[in-house]
Amino acid sequence: MDFNNKVVIVTGASSGIGAATAEAFAKLSASVVLVGRNAEKLRAVAQKCENAKGKKPLVIKADMSVDFDVKKVVFETVDKFSKIDVLVNNAGFTANGGIRDGIEIYDKVMSTNVRGVYLLTSLAVPHLVKTRGNIVNVSSIVAKKTVKSFNWLAYSMSKAALDHFTRCVALELASEGVRVNAVNPGAVRTPFYEVISVPETMLKKFDAVMPLGKIAESEEIADMIVYLASDKARSITGVTNVIDNGNMLI
Ligand code: NDP
Repeated sequence: MDFNNKVVIVTGASSGIGAATAEAFAKLSASVVLVGRNAEKLRAVAQKCENAKGKKPLVIKADMSVDFDVKKVVFETVDKFSKIDVLVNNAGFTANGGIRDGIEIYDKVMSTNVRGVYLLTSLAVPHLVKTRGNIVNVSSIVAKKTVKSFNWLAYSMSKAALDHFTRCVALELASEGVRVNAVNPGAVRTPFYEVISVPETMLKKFDAVMPLGKIAESEEIADMIVYLASDKARSITGVTNVIDNGNMLI
């Protein structure tokens, strides 16, 4: 797989799956655009990307829940590289809460995990049509199954919305040669769990209960994202791809 001359936007590139994905594309010679809120972390990831093949990434500090910032992502990318080939909608987070915990959690989670994705995708589409590019959305297995150990109502709904967004936009853009797919990870060892105070000891317990004996590492999710974005996946669109060490089996 070669992404030389391809421009790839990765949102949530400052950490975890997004950082690993940006690095994976950089190793395949892509021009990467790193989007996130934490400038210091973005700079560290940018350095790793540059070390891979010597290409300096474009770093854009942007909050996906703020319309102005989302517009800035497309504007600055096209200003610098004149095109977009791949959009990876990865930025997202969860929050603990169920139906009795107030509507605020819903608004907060949806504004980044769904609204930000909707707006950024809509602005990127004209450019993706020109390049016959593609989109990979980072969803979750919680879009497909309820998980008793977590109280993640809004998050689960946001990922279910993202799955159907993937299918609907895939159908809308298919005749113009733009593919749209999703990856649906099970548990992945990233700072995602720190935000909701899940300790490392709990992640070790997850390792033990997975049919394949481990949860995933970010690089494993990145591999599937890169595959879906590559020409090898040229017949794949509208598909949500579970990558979960067998979690869905139990
Ligand atoms: P991390 O917490 O490591 O990374 C989340 C990334 O999203 C960070 O780069 C963060 O950047 C960015 N982000 C969050 N909110 C915003 C925002 N409002 N605007 C811009 N960037 C934002 O977690 P993961 O790498 O694990 O998560 C990546 C994706 O994978 C998420 O969509 C998550 O739902 C999904 N996922 C994760 C799983 C897991 O077990 N880890 C399982 C299934 C899905 P910054 O702080 O710089 O803004």
